[in-house]
Amino acid sequence: MAQREFQTEVSQLLQLIIHSLYSHQEIFLRELVSNASDALDKLKYLSLTEEPYKSMPFDPRIDLELDEAAGTLQIADTGIGMNDEDLVSHLGTIARSGTKNFLANLSGDAKKDSNLIGQFGVGFYSAFIVADKVEVISRKAGEEKAWRWTSDGKSGYELEPAERDKSGTTVILHFHTEGKEYANSWKLREIVKKYSNHIAFPIFLTADENEWDEAEKKSVKKRTTKQVNAASALWKRPKNELKDEDYKELYKSVSGDWADPLCWFHTKAEGTMEYTTLFYIPSKAPFDLYQADYRPGVKLYVRRVFIMDDSKELLPTYLRFVRGIIDSEDLPLNVSREILQQNRVLTAIRTASVKKILSELKSLATDNPEQYTNFIEEFNRPLKEGLYSDHANEETLLELIRVKTTKSEGWTSLAEVKGRMQEGQKGIYFITGQNATQLRNSPLLEIYKKKDIEVVILADEIDEFIFSRIEKYQDVELKSVNKASSGDDLKDETAEEKREALTPLLEKLKRVLGEKVKDVRQSARLADSPSCIVSDEEEPSLQMRQMLRAMGQKEMPEGKPILEINPDHEIVKKLLAASNDSLVDDAAFLLLDQALLVEGIALEDPGAFVQRLNRVLRRAV
Ligand code: ADP
Repeated sequence: MAQREFQTEVSQLLQLIIHSLYSHQEIFLRELVSNASDALDKLKYLSLTEEPYKSMPFDPRIDLELDEAAGTLQIADTGIGMNDEDLVSHLGTIARSGTKNFLANLSGDAKKDSNLIGQFGVGFYSAFIVADKVEVISRKAGEEKAWRWTSDGKSGYELEPAERDKSGTTVILHFHTEGKEYANSWKLREIVKKYSNHIAFPIFLTADENEWDEAEKKSVKKRTTKQVNAASALWKRPKNELKDEDYKELYKSVSGDWADPLCWFHTKAEGTMEYTTLFYIPSKAPFDLYQADYRPGVKLYVRRVFIMDDSKELLPTYLRFVRGIIDSEDLPLNVSREILQQNRVLTAIRTASVKKILSELKSLATDNPEQYTNFIEEFNRPLKEGLYSDHANEETLLELIRVKTTKSEGWTSLAEVKGRMQEGQKGIYFITGQNATQLRNSPLLEIYKKKDIEVVILADEIDEFIFSRIEKYQDVELKSVNKASSGDDLKDETAEEKREALTPLLEKLKRVLGEKVKDVRQSARLADSPSCIVSDEEEPSLQMRQMLRAMGQKEMPEGKPILEINPDHEIVKKLLAASNDSLVDDAAFLLLDQALLVEGIALEDPGAFVQRLNRVLRRAV
């Protein structure tokens, strides 16, 4: 029997789980029961839709068997099972890049890492929190052979042929000394009730229980088997029968999250279409929310039969943080992914669900601002993604998102910003970039500060994409201060007078800078700085180009900055009078480079910048 090694990542994950979950040991049972339930879901679906599974007997159940004396616990299911290849790939390697990234990003600081792992589905490997030996005996549905996988959770595992009467999986935990506290039927019952009460399949516990023996007039140990969970599709029950605790417990079992959800929305639709939805908003964003292989967390059921849980069709991508259940009465059971994409019933459910979720969030914002702030801290960004992709709900999304501004360090709504507009102000202004502090100090804001006009600070990398496409909030225009023509509020009454004096300098600067700039113009937006850069209306800003390049985009539309010069600045006034050409040459580049630097844009030739700076300094000292 050959010993096989774990993939490096598996060993890493195992170490982490064992060392960081000692205060949450009991979750091992939730994870294993949830795997068993998934395996039953998969076979149940096949047994309703596909031969040969349709003609195979199927008695879905999960059996926990405790042997106190031996210190072992079996978790057996009658589900889909695994063959040798499945065992190797599912229990010996990590395929998902999300998980790999998660591991790569760990700090090595045990405390921080154990907080992180709380948001991460630990799954099967949690068995090793309580056991120093784990056996898995499994037989795949429709196959004759069974296999035994054995491991101590350290070096690797062994795989050998085995026997099993029926298809399904049995996991046998050999508790280590500390884990022995779970070799206790009372404790196991409590844990099942706490985490797995609403698993849709019956869970039985077989153990030696104390029972009163009438004949012997004393309590004796008897081997008994009892169902320990309620096994009801909780979402089908009327709302008034459900307590908060029921909802929270179901959330934990469907999401794998340990924390309570932030809130939930339970809806039953009747009429032309019948369906039930129960949506949860997590209290924390999952660690891999922004990764490509993120798995959305809404499960699709048809008449209480689980169909699939990773379909991207159930809700739009921007709502991928929502967890929960959609249970339809009208869809066919054997609905495939391909069919789902164009299914009218599902499209209607999806549209109604999005409306429902957004309107509930709107109510939350009014009724419970504190909770809404928590929501925004975690999920503002996905909502903004919705502004890009969901035009039908643009108006609602603009009400839901929150922003920071030059006048508010905390979150504020566009409605509030609109409410604070000045008499006669022509639009709501925003500045985009990648660093809020940098943006707050940008010279582009000087004139707005001077005129006491509030400017929205948008520092998410996606903001420029999104907000450059949105023209209005209600009836007010949204205008980017990074753009050349940014608004009627900037009119400088004395601009014409200054132009005559400034023009020769502008032309000289343009000549010196040549290809580096699109234009050199007189600015109306600067107070304390001599220069700034803006972009042409139709072009992506330099920050956006920098970001696209970092993301690997090679083809980029032409785009050069427009350099704006402050006619009232002392340096500029002195330059107007300067006759020394080499000084003006240096100044031209320094005015451009400092404007780039302050916007967080890397200089093409930092060496040349430093040389020029030193030449000018030498003159000054
Ligand atoms: P996850 O459940 O998040 O995918 P796990 O580590 O818990 O991760 O399990 C890895 C895989 O092993 C599962 O996706 C499933 O394919 C398989 N597996 C685990 N437990 C069982 C089981 N009881 N029956 C069948 N397959 C299982």
